[in-house]
Amino acid sequence: MTAVVADSGAIGVLDLQGGVQEHLDHLQRIRIAGRSVKHAADLAGLAGLIIPGGESTCLSRLLDIFGLRAEIEAHYRQGLKLWGTCAGAILLARENVGEAPFFGLIDIAVSRNAFGSQLDSFQCEALAPTVAPEPIPLTFIRAPKIVGTGPDVQVLLSMQDYVAAAEDDRILVTVFHPELTPSLAFHRYFARKCGLHPAGDEKTALDPDWTPQSWIRFGPHV
Ligand code: GLN
Repeated sequence: MTAVVADSGAIGVLDLQGGVQEHLDHLQRIRIAGRSVKHAADLAGLAGLIIPGGESTCLSRLLDIFGLRAEIEAHYRQGLKLWGTCAGAILLARENVGEAPFFGLIDIAVSRNAFGSQLDSFQCEALAPTVAPEPIPLTFIRAPKIVGTGPDVQVLLSMQDYVAAAEDDRILVTVFHPELTPSLAFHRYFARKCGLHPAGDEKTALDPDWTPQSWIRFGPHV
């Protein structure tokens, strides 16, 4: 396996299933090089990897079929930072209530589909002061709830009876989808966690040029 080059400047997006292009689009908006990750070789030299939302059972099977599970774990041990959005957060959690955990790399417990069916998906806004000074728009799609966090985990966004965003030294998890909103705040936050320098001003985290379809213009290979 190729050793991680810490200053490569690129962030990968696991490209097996789910919201891949939307994340690549957001990375482009903050002038961070993004890379689709389908095979083990695509992990070489990345500073960070986003595991997108989608369907966690499907993603877990594809990770095994494509031989990426052990490769991601090995790169993580060598310093690769990870961000799991929604299904990605489920895969990274140490405990998945009532089910077997997958990577089990961050000390959180998640409860899948805790808001109900797809029809119970919703949008709202909340302030996550560590991430951005202004309220951030949040999109929850058949999301899990983070129902427990260990002592080494910092809560970034706490809602009524659950945690919506958290991190430890090397992993960020969000149960909502920043890539489906005009907010670039979490992408900037993760890029900085990876030691990179995203473009743009924290105070203007909403990109006025973003639309729900704007990622399409970047095509399948960014
Ligand atoms: N409900 C999905 C799961 O359990 C996650 C949904 C999402 O990623 N938006 O995997």
